[in-house]
Parts: sequence; C-alpha cells; structure tokens
Amino acid sequence: MSFPEPHHNHSKCTADLLSRAERTCERRGSKLTGQRRDILNCVAASHSAVGAYDIIERMAEFGPRPAPITVYRALDFLLAHGLVHKIESRNAFVACSHAHDGLPAALLICETCGLVAELDAPDAFAGLKIAAAAQGFAEHRTMVEMTGLCSACARAA
Ligand SMILES: [Zn+2]
Ligand SMILES: [Zn+2]
Ligand SMILES: [Zn+2]
Repeated sequence: MSFPEPHHNHSKCTADLLSRAERTCERRGSKLTGQRRDILNCVAASHSAVGAYDIIERMAEFGPRPAPITVYRALDFLLAHGLVHKIESRNAFVACSHAHDGLPAALLICETCGLVAELDAPDAFAGLKIAAAAQGFAEHRTMVEMTGLCSACARAA
C-alpha cells in the first residue's frame, strides 16, 4: 500500500476499515463494542499517527472524556485484531490500511507531513527471520519502521 493521495476519498478508507473490523470480530467471536468502534474511528480519522492522549481529546469533542485505561484497553484489542498498528518509535497508533492477515508490514513514516503508509515486504521479513535463525534466535514478532519523506514531500523539498 502506498501513501494516500492528498485528496482521496477518505470516508471510503474509514468505511472499509469499519466493515473489516466487523468481519474480523465476527470471525474471531469477539465484539466490536461502541467504544472500541469510536476509538477505531478516532485513530482512522487520518493516515497520521495519533497518541493515546490525542484519541482522548478527540473522543472528548463529541462525548464524555474516556479514562486513559479504557482507551489503552480498546487499543490493545484493536492491535490484537490487526486493525491498528503501534508505531513503537513514537508511542503512537495508526489505523491499518489493508488486510494483511497477521503478516508484518513495514511502517513508512513521513517526517514532513506525518503520514504513515504500510509496505508489504515479505521477502525482507523472511530474510530477517532466516538471518536471526542462523544466530539460533527464534523470532516471535518483527517490527520495521522507516522514517523519511513520502514522494509528495520529497518532490516539494
Ligand atoms: Zn484515507
Ligand atoms: Zn496493516
Ligand atoms: Zn510527506
């Protein structure tokens, strides 16, 4: 998945993600409660990273201010279901842009506009796994984050 075009129809992104969320939860026998859905909506409001406190502020704009623990629990749920990703280097979250069924995707973070895109790079992840295994290391989870400039910002620079 590449970086989103500046004037794309973002309501389609959000609608796709919410219907995927419904299907994923149904398949796994878990429940997308109203609060989890609201928090997913807040994260998915843009393709930029949001921190937990930004989410609380957004929630407070249209309803009661949620307790941080509530937001963290909902984020854990959404992370476990592959609906959002955590950007470890920024302690922030971004909505998943496409279904990749538990396979890792590299996160590309633009330093100028803050947009985050996901890059499917199965060969790169497989290569890392093989290299780690050669050291006797049993991999559980691999995260790859790249920072730089998206093509629009690189053109403007
Ligand atoms: Zn979008
Ligand atoms: Zn994703
Ligand atoms: Zn950019």
